[in-house]
Amino acid sequence: MPRTLTIRFTGFRECPNCGGRGDDGTSWRPLECKRCKGRGQLVTSVEIEDSERGMLPASAYDFNALGEVFLLDFDEDDEIEVIRPESAWDQRGPSS
Ligand SMILES: [Zn+2]
Repeated sequence: MPRTLTIRFTGFRECPNCGGRGDDGTSWRPLECKRCKGRGQLVTSVEIEDSERGMLPASAYDFNALGEVFLLDFDEDDEIEVIRPESAWDQRGPSS
């Protein structure tokens, strides 16, 4: 079994820049919101489960509002499969 890290988004908030619309609201050619990249939501909390160590402490990783997660205390040599929540935005769309 390869070691895996499973990332989950556990909290979101409405993007304050676009009010959750994902764009600037103009009727003619609306521009994608720069802050949330058109999603209408920002990630506020993340959890990561390590197949060897269990839930990682918050000090082991960093993340930003766009859902990009950065692992802080892992060697690049380690063979770790990182499972990112690609579909999380679809499952918890802006309308939820
Ligand atoms: Zn936005």
